[in-house]
Amino acid sequence: MTMGFKKNKAQVDEMFRLRDEGKSYREIERLTGLSKGTMSYHLGEGQKDKTRETTKNERERRRLIVIEYKESRGCADCKRRGHFYQHPYYVLQADHVWDTKVANVSHMLRNNTLEEIMIELAKCDIVCANCHAIRTHKRRKMINEINTTDEQADDGYYEEV
Ligand SMILES: [Zn+2]
Repeated sequence: MTMGFKKNKAQVDEMFRLRDEGKSYREIERLTGLSKGTMSYHLGEGQKDKTRETTKNERERRRLIVIEYKESRGCADCKRRGHFYQHPYYVLQADHVWDTKVANVSHMLRNNTLEEIMIELAKCDIVCANCHAIRTHKRRKMINEINTTDEQADDGYYEEV
């Protein structure tokens, strides 16, 4: 399983050794069999940091757009929005209305494009944590009523009470 990684690490170590010996990119490429992309990623001036920085900035940009989207929508149920009503983004949640959930939006922020995230958000209601809990409770109750006969209905299914 780790063979590929180990081989790659050995190649990269060799690459640094050759670099320290003063070998040219071309020579290192020939001697290690590493691709130009891999070499420039490791050897390029601040290249690794730059790549990391771009990814971080891109993620932060997506996060801010999602925050703005949530706060501009506010809660679909109690209609509150914004810090004034104590409904900032961190109490606003995406509720997948018709169980079309494919991914958690906060997880998507890491790995998906902004377009994919916005498509997913479009399938959701934005609701505050309180209203989300109320929705979940009502749904559970409804499902419980569908699944139980009249005799079983008083069995005390809820733990929230
Ligand atoms: Zn609400």
